Amino acid sequence: MNLQQRNKMEALVRQIHRADAILIGGGSGLSSAAGYDHYHWSPALSRPLKRFRAYYGFTSPFAGFYHCFSSYGEQWGYYSQYIRAMWEAPTGQPYLDLKEIVDGKPVFVLTTNVDGQFSRVFPKEKICTFQGDFGYCQCSQPCQDKLWENRELVERLTRRLQGVRLPEREVPRCPDCGRILVPWVRDDTFLEGSAWQQNLTRYHDFLRHWLLEQPGKRLLLLELGVGEMTPGIIKLPFWELTARNEGVFYACLNQAASGAPEYLRERSLSIQGDLAETLAALRQIQKGEYSGV
Ligand SMILES: [Zn+2]
Repeated sequence: MNLQQRNKMEALVRQIHRADAILIGGGSGLSSAAGYDHYHWSPALSRPLKRFRAYYGFTSPFAGFYHCFSSYGEQWGYYSQYIRAMWEAPTGQPYLDLKEIVDGKPVFVLTTNVDGQFSRVFPKEKICTFQGDFGYCQCSQPCQDKLWENRELVERLTRRLQGVRLPEREVPRCPDCGRILVPWVRDDTFLEGSAWQQNLTRYHDFLRHWLLEQPGKRLLLLELGVGEMTPGIIKLPFWELTARNEGVFYACLNQAASGAPEYLRERSLSIQGDLAETLAALRQIQKGEYSGV
């Protein structure tokens, strides 16, 4: 780490200390840094999905998730193994570091990640999973406003796999309409029902509380690993919140070069680099234990 990086990290540690509340915007880069890269093959997912990768030639775990399978049994064969792997995956170190870094502050998380890692370290009612959470299923119609947690389901299904396939009779179906269940993840039939609405309401309540009902408070927006794919969910709203509110500071942490527009220069900072390393260093600097430079 060079001196400039070190100075930025110290500046961020000061911003965290000064903040009355912190809004975390978490993207796929955070899970990648934790070893759970859903857009490229990495060991944590290559291992449990090896058979499927070899059989179908998927270019990434998510490519398989959105693959057009020729039967429901094949589709659920893949889903069950993938989702089970994430239920059983250890909590990633960057998530654990993040929890420590913001410890003691009122925190809310807005995330596009669907892999359940945030809910390991923050209470579910403090998280808005905007794109869903694949630890839950919905009816594929959807005929009803209901989500089913699927931990036990996928565990049971993976025990019945025959190669890459689940026997068709084992495919989970909606108890009411009989259509197949699907993971609760954004696609054309994504259920924006009461759970999703409540998620969003809690996010808006958090913003209203810290920006409107508590004048003069400092809100830190901490953007972590947000890519270019869906800027409209986290990045652009964060820029706008910063531009419109004097008490907001924006910090952007990313592997790739990323940052804030020029008009936010006074109230923003960006740190480029491996997120796992950045978060570990921030935690150490905060505790006064950092010895890297
Ligand atoms: Zn149904």
